[in-house]
Amino acid sequence: MDELMEIEALRRELTRAGYEYYVLDNPTMSDYDYDHKLRRLEELETAHPETVTPDSPTQRVGGQALESFQQVTHPVPLESLQDVFDFEELEAFDQRVRGVVPRADYSVEPKVDGLSVALEYENGLFVRGATRGDGLVGEDVTENLRTVRSIPLKIENAPPRLIVRGEVYMPKQVFHALNEEREKRGEALFANPRNAAAGSLRQLDPRVAAQRRLDIAVFNLQLAEGVSFQTHGETLDYLRDRGFKVIPHALCAAIGEATERIRDIGENREKFPFDIDGAVVKLNNLIDREALGSTAKFPRWAAAYKYPPEVKPSKVVDILIQVGRTGVLTPKAVLEPVRLAGTTVTNATLHNQDFISEKDIRIGDTVLVRKAGEIIPEVLSVVMEKRPEGTVPYRFPEVCPVCGAPVERDEDGAHIRCTGAECPAQLLRTLAHFASRDAMDIEGLGIAVVENLVNAGLVKTPGDLYFLKEEDVAKLERMGKKSAKNLLAAIEKSKSQDLSRLIYAFGIRQVGQKTGKVLAGRFETLDALSGAAVEELTQVEDIGEITAQSIFHWFQSPQSRHLIARLKEAGVNMKAEERGEDQRFAGKTFVLTGTLERFTRDEATKMIEDRGGKAASSVSKKTTYVVAGEAAGSKLRKAQELGVPVLTQEEFLALME
Ligand code: AMP
Repeated sequence: MDELMEIEALRRELTRAGYEYYVLDNPTMSDYDYDHKLRRLEELETAHPETVTPDSPTQRVGGQALESFQQVTHPVPLESLQDVFDFEELEAFDQRVRGVVPRADYSVEPKVDGLSVALEYENGLFVRGATRGDGLVGEDVTENLRTVRSIPLKIENAPPRLIVRGEVYMPKQVFHALNEEREKRGEALFANPRNAAAGSLRQLDPRVAAQRRLDIAVFNLQLAEGVSFQTHGETLDYLRDRGFKVIPHALCAAIGEATERIRDIGENREKFPFDIDGAVVKLNNLIDREALGSTAKFPRWAAAYKYPPEVKPSKVVDILIQVGRTGVLTPKAVLEPVRLAGTTVTNATLHNQDFISEKDIRIGDTVLVRKAGEIIPEVLSVVMEKRPEGTVPYRFPEVCPVCGAPVERDEDGAHIRCTGAECPAQLLRTLAHFASRDAMDIEGLGIAVVENLVNAGLVKTPGDLYFLKEEDVAKLERMGKKSAKNLLAAIEKSKSQDLSRLIYAFGIRQVGQKTGKVLAGRFETLDALSGAAVEELTQVEDIGEITAQSIFHWFQSPQSRHLIARLKEAGVNMKAEERGEDQRFAGKTFVLTGTLERFTRDEATKMIEDRGGKAASSVSKKTTYVVAGEAAGSKLRKAQELGVPVLTQEEFLALME
């Protein structure tokens, strides 16, 4: 066969098969054949690029990525709908309609919970697709919509210009599969199919959109140049005949029948491939619609019925406490599985202690559970008549279920938090804060590296950072020798950070950067601070009772003590920078050696540091003075070799005057 004819034939065959598969849900060609033929068509089109048309089935895989979306003004606005929340309101709507048109027939349709789009065809070719935006101006997402297999790229017997409106959605099955895959890859999950569909349709790269297998339900004819219709039902038939995937709808002779149909949709919502957030009732007769007209926001001839959230009883099997990254303890009820709004619910949040106490929720209770839309299930109330004998009021734990540290209530009372300085549940956050710029300022220790270290089991407390081995770090994902070396150097450097930073780095509740400085200035050493009583702490400027309690308890806790011991062992600085007036030793380094009788080593060190100097432990060319007591040995000799001046204890004291 002539290749050009083969191209034509393949296109026709594939378009037909796609329509049967994606629109009619009635496959006639095997996947194998389809893929095979599509491949052949691609080959032929590559050989004859001049023949490629925008409606070819090969054009659905997603072309070039865009920089941004263009704005599109909708030739016919995409209107909103008025909501009704019960059958009484629905009847009132019907009355208003019948005030204008006494005989009202309705079309009832599921309200698809997706994204509204307008599709525009010129002489049968799909030329533009846009999101709803504000109803008047939307975004041009033509390239992404091309990848939606159920949208015809070309229609037969078309008017010169045709615009249809529909709802793009991600089929529930696709949504679940996508989230499963994302979970495996450790990516953030989509909250619901609508978010997933929105995220996919607003992808700048159509190839990504193509993989998301979006679908459409067309529910309105916006414009068909030169064609006239009597009813909405006729327009939907017209669109179906032209290859569109049209929303399931029922024509109802009166509001009573419409109400039945709405009930029916609600009861069968699980059977639809899409999520629904209501049912739409529309006047069927198009002339009558005009008689009713629109308000500024919505047409008077349609209403969206919103189903009340489903409520069902279930039994509280247990109450579990989860500890979040910030240390907040959140209780959740483990429930006997119950079907609610299309999913099986097995637990519900109980928010906090007050929520449980107010409703007096106990293990063993039967409770009413509600799930509204995407919101996580919640417990509404306890069915008191069903409370079994012997239940007891729930008592919130006094210690963290993860690490055993005492818990405390936030000052505003809302949350109960774990106080453990080394609590595993909070470790990522604790470490990230410890290393952050205003705290220990460890360069290169961002959240990703922290996660890496923790997942590899190399770090269980901030103290462990100082004992990391380069070879272990280098083995981590995305690390390598060089970065490992740099990271360890940055960690090493942080050992000499000022005490004020260390105090802040602990992440003690109420203790910010400023309080860290105030405390370091007042207590000078971590030992002094950790031994301070509450009364002593409250005497410090800007420190009130609550902060003082928080600091006191933090230092009392075994986990904090363990952490401090580990940091001490590592040689982390626990003294405050001396900001005395007298800086006569600034830039000078002293080494103390031999037996000192006039002062202790610690005293001498303090005298030096108070005046801006440094006390080092070994002699080098950089040493300014060696202070030698009795029986000085190798350090004295080294000083003499290097020509470093040697002072007696008296001479050292004289420098102080
Ligand atoms: P709202 O955004 O709450 O005003 O509801 C109106 C939206 O419902 C429209 O923008 C459509 O996107 C959506 N919708 C879903 N299914 C239908 C339907 N069958 N008929 C009309 N609108 C629908």
